[in-house]
Amino acid sequence: MTTVAAYAAPAAKAPLERTTIERRPVGEADVLIDIKFAGICHSDIHQAREGWGPAAFPMVPGHEIAGVVSEVGPGVTEFQVGDRVGVGCMVDSCRECDNCKDGLEQFCTGGGPVWTYNSTGKDGRPTLGGYAEKIVVDEKYVVRVPDGLSLDEAAPLLCAGITTYSPLKHWNAGPGKKVAVVGLGGLGHMGVKIAHALGAEVTVLSQSLRKKDDGLKLGADHYYATADPETFTSLKGTFDIILNTVSAPLDFPAYLSLLRRDGAMVNVGLPEEAVDIPLRSFFGGRRSISSSNIGGIQETQEMLDFCAAHGFGAEIELIAADRINEAYERVVASDVRYRFVIDTSTI
Ligand code: NAP
Ligand code: ZN
Ligand code: ZN
Repeated sequence: MTTVAAYAAPAAKAPLERTTIERRPVGEADVLIDIKFAGICHSDIHQAREGWGPAAFPMVPGHEIAGVVSEVGPGVTEFQVGDRVGVGCMVDSCRECDNCKDGLEQFCTGGGPVWTYNSTGKDGRPTLGGYAEKIVVDEKYVVRVPDGLSLDEAAPLLCAGITTYSPLKHWNAGPGKKVAVVGLGGLGHMGVKIAHALGAEVTVLSQSLRKKDDGLKLGADHYYATADPETFTSLKGTFDIILNTVSAPLDFPAYLSLLRRDGAMVNVGLPEEAVDIPLRSFFGGRRSISSSNIGGIQETQEMLDFCAAHGFGAEIELIAADRINEAYERVVASDVRYRFVIDTSTI
């Protein structure tokens, strides 16, 4: 066991505080990673506050991890000491079910996946996430950060990047396609960058026009305020894909009316409240409503390579660990441009 410093929520809704945790010894197929940066995802907040239901405490959140390999187990073949690597939302899965075999480990039906935190590892111990100095992970669930991507700007790609890349690819965002991204936060700003890089015509649907200049710089072609009812009139029947990244419930019928024939509204935002969506609100025009959950390990590597090839990471605000609680409040208030990233050397 190795003792490392971390930030943890001792109980639901309690502020996070500095503590120490134990990491398992480096096993046969494990790598030990010196964590350099950890992004703050809104999912960390939903879980630390038990917004999605009962959770395990003390909780060390963090599933947007970027760092450097500092030790490898004897059976490790893909990584060496000194490699720049990332870990996202999963640290293991059954590896045998159809979904694991298809590289969709996030949908593991063999009792997994093992999430990076707030989950139970195969050793029966609770998993603890990336707001920490070090982590031990099986190499199969580790990805490589390409040269040309700085580790701080790469960290948020491990969740916000893959969560937007995967559905945009699956629903064929590209030239000739009109994509709306709802919510310009951590996920949303990556959705805009990636959809633009894929060649789609991108529209941001944000609560206000406050971040319009940023949105256009990130690659959006159009930007509308959803607080203005005129937005829903003028954009009726427009989009092939609506990528909803909002952490709260929306007026779904209003957004569904913006889809063109055969369009899909793909929900990655995961509000704490149940939502009520009348079938008749998307019955016409063969429109669909769907969802997506992060992406597989191989696709996460593909996304990192894609971002590096296009020369972008995330837009970040780097913070010291003692500002995590303040950052949580700002995320909840939609006051983030566009991802808080913890400099873990300050833990
Ligand atoms: P975030 O940075 O807080 O961004 C969410 C954005 O939604 C805000 O910036 C804001 O954008 C908009 N918004 C917030 N409250 C709203 C409201 N009441 N009405 C309308 N718009 C509102 O959060 P995030 O880290 O991107 O995560 C977003 C959601 O995705 C969370 O629920 C998170 O748990 C979920 N998530 C899901 C997956 C997955 O695999 N499916 C992965 C990661 C995260 P504007 O200011 O532009 O309106
Ligand atoms: Zn996340
Ligand atoms: Zn599986």
